[in-house]
Amino acid sequence: MVTERNWAGNYGYRAPRIAHPASMAELQDLVAGAGKVSALGSRHSFNDIADTPGTLVVLDMLDVGISVDTQNMTVTVSGGTRYGTLAAELQRRGFALHNLASLPHISVAGAVATATHGSGDGNGNLATAVVALELVTADGTVVTARRGDADFAGMVVGLGALGIVSRLTLDIEPSFDVAQTVFEGLGWEQILESFDALTPSAYSLSLFTDWSGPTAGQAWLKNRTDQAVLPGGLPEFFSGAPATEARHPLPGVSGSNCTQQLGVPGPWSDRLAHFRMEFTPSKGEELQSEYLIPREHAVEALRTMRSLSGMVTPLLLIGEIRTIAADQLWLSPNYGRDGIGLHFTWRQDEPAVKAILPLLEAELAPFSARPHWGKLFHGTEASLAPLYPRFSDFTALAGRLDPAGKFRNAFLDRTVFGR
Ligand SMILES: Cc1cc2nc3c(=O)[nH]c(=O)nc-3n(C[C@H](O)[C@H](O)[C@H](O)COP(=O)(O)OP(=O)(O)OC[C@H]3O[C@@H](n4cnc5c(N)ncnc54)[C@H](O)[C@@H]3O)c2cc1C
Repeated sequence: MVTERNWAGNYGYRAPRIAHPASMAELQDLVAGAGKVSALGSRHSFNDIADTPGTLVVLDMLDVGISVDTQNMTVTVSGGTRYGTLAAELQRRGFALHNLASLPHISVAGAVATATHGSGDGNGNLATAVVALELVTADGTVVTARRGDADFAGMVVGLGALGIVSRLTLDIEPSFDVAQTVFEGLGWEQILESFDALTPSAYSLSLFTDWSGPTAGQAWLKNRTDQAVLPGGLPEFFSGAPATEARHPLPGVSGSNCTQQLGVPGPWSDRLAHFRMEFTPSKGEELQSEYLIPREHAVEALRTMRSLSGMVTPLLLIGEIRTIAADQLWLSPNYGRDGIGLHFTWRQDEPAVKAILPLLEAELAPFSARPHWGKLFHGTEASLAPLYPRFSDFTALAGRLDPAGKFRNAFLDRTVFGR
């Protein structure tokens, strides 16, 4: 048994072996010869999604460098590259990604595999930037797929079920600056009355709340200076006031671990995430869940969440509301629908969190809530399959690429394959 645990420490991988292949040939031999195998990214998921009863494969030794193609405006990286490393290098060379998650510490392949997202009405999740990928499949064969190829849209958000992604090519754009401003004390009444006016107020907007009381906690507005929607220096925003010092999403925690705020413009790579690469993101001692809801149900879902405050708030460190644009990636929780993300950073009390999740999911079911694949949720294949129009196409694709189920694990059996 390996001794590795996930980032939050709530899950200990049960795999008996862990391998760090240093070349493609080594990776291919390893996969071809393995009985069961799974890719492990930077271990930031909160569940057993990356585990295997065989060999865990970590790509930290398989460095293919970071190569920018200025003609096609793309960058190619190893699956194990972390967003923080990639963002710093792109910025140094004058380029940008369209968005980042709340933290830069996660691996590109691991984030893409679970449709990890940031925020912004016009921003697809991080997987939508994938132009091409290279995959080592069950028999050790290297398969490549590009946007537009048959099955490509099924391969990107792959949940580790299709093979080991060795290389990814992502869209890039010219570097841009972002100014981040935090407002505090936004009124729930104003938010619910004008939600459709609120979220386009920034390139990326996050609302942090514990769902209790008449005001939501904080709004983090990240505006591109080349397309600022909201003029800086606003005295008031949805009846909230601008913070006068750096804030952390968690009440009472110092803002010094967070990216620069107070409207000071700076590179996208230092502003689009909430947390800085050099520090522990969020709290560390926590659990997380998240549900993606279609935009047309947003206000009703927010009202429902407020009504559930008595159940949810005591277990919460903080909640976050973000927006994500629709995509066409088969198992993306944003497939076919613009939406909002209702995120929960829970206290690290797993039995209590696991007890609340079925109740929460029952309340959010009328909104066709799809859970974040990398966080804690209760649903299984029976409840998830009807939520995804291309679900059976995905299982068929997995059957073709991995007929013996080498990459399947308990998580995939429970949530995707239904056994
Ligand atoms: C503090 C914190 C903040 C977070 N913030 C956000 C956020 O803002 N937005 C959001 O959407 N999510 C967020 N998450 C969730 C996180 O982004 C996802 O769980 C993501 O999948 C983690 O990536 P990872 O590299 O750690 O992958 P892991 O957890 O190691 O693995 C996740 C999945 O990816 C697969 N995988 C990894 N590498 C490969 C590969 N090379 N080839 C094939 N499959 C692979 C694994 O097999 C597994 O299925 C956060 C998590 C934490 C701990």
